[in-house]
Amino acid sequence: MKKEGLIIVYTGKGKGKTTAALGIVLRAVGYEKKICMIQFIKGSWHYGEMLSSKRLEPEFEMVVIGKGFVGIIDDKSPKEDHEKIAKEAIKISLEKIQSGKYDIIILDEINYAVNLGLIREEDVINLIKSKPPELDLVLTGNYAKEKIIDLADLVTEMREIKHPFQQGIKAKKGIDF
Ligand code: ATP
Ligand code: MG
Repeated sequence: MKKEGLIIVYTGKGKGKTTAALGIVLRAVGYEKKICMIQFIKGSWHYGEMLSSKRLEPEFEMVVIGKGFVGIIDDKSPKEDHEKIAKEAIKISLEKIQSGKYDIIILDEINYAVNLGLIREEDVINLIKSKPPELDLVLTGNYAKEKIIDLADLVTEMREIKHPFQQGIKAKKGIDF
């Protein structure tokens, strides 16, 4: 029987969702797998992975959305700004998923974008259903919807036990960004 790709969801309040997805990238690049990561929330990518992604080329590709909006976003409310990014991200994701060029695609913060009402749950379900059978699809972000969880093969909820933020410790280079 032909092995099918997995649908993986990293959700929950605790830290580690994007980090876990990046862990898959590190592992898969070792086998020369092709991976694409797409951001759904503007500014959700921190500097570290943007810099190291260059070292993981050509296997790893990070799609930065919203460069073209830079000139106009200052005049818009943050919600509209995020909405534009999320809608564009859906379009690009669909193209990437259907291209058949990738082994793994990561939709970073997509669950959170649905929860914020920036994109519709149906759009995400449509993305999942349109994937080639062999493609592994990773969806990160808190508040993953029930229907998406139902479609997934692997769901991990990061549960916060402690976070340095609670002690007033600020985000740390290499750990948080
Ligand atoms: P990371 O990218 O570190 O794996 P994440 O993807 O699980 O985190 P996000 O919701 O994307 O979490 O949040 C991104 C940023 O917010 C990171 O800098 C992270 O350290 C911080 N963060 C994550 N969880 C918490 C939390 N429970 N309290 C405070 N800050 C958090
Ligand atoms: Mg994240």
